[in-house]
Amino acid sequence: MPDLEINCAECGNSFPFTEREQDYYRERGLSHPKRCKPCRDARRANFGSAKQGGGGGGDRERFEIVCDQCGKTDSVPFKPQPGRPVLCGNCFSASRAQNRGA
Ligand SMILES: [Zn+2]
Ligand SMILES: [Zn+2]
Repeated sequence: MPDLEINCAECGNSFPFTEREQDYYRERGLSHPKRCKPCRDARRANFGSAKQGGGGGGDRERFEIVCDQCGKTDSVPFKPQPGRPVLCGNCFSASRAQNRGA
């Protein structure tokens, strides 16, 4: 597999996608990069500051819950704490809207 030359979707510069990198991407089942390394690093840096207190990233786990308010089942992106009421998406945004109004 020869080195590939890819045009960065961000800045338009062409950059080398080396054989070794191709292997790395293939092993992880990633699609080929669309951006050069500086642009990717810049994006990653922006991403990190944009979402605060994230950590981890990637595919997030969803947890099945039963809404304390309306009794519907839903899934939430955080682990429900035993003993604490958990709300479904609807009730959660409704209670948030209420809090904001008060
Ligand atoms: Zn670029
Ligand atoms: Zn609910």
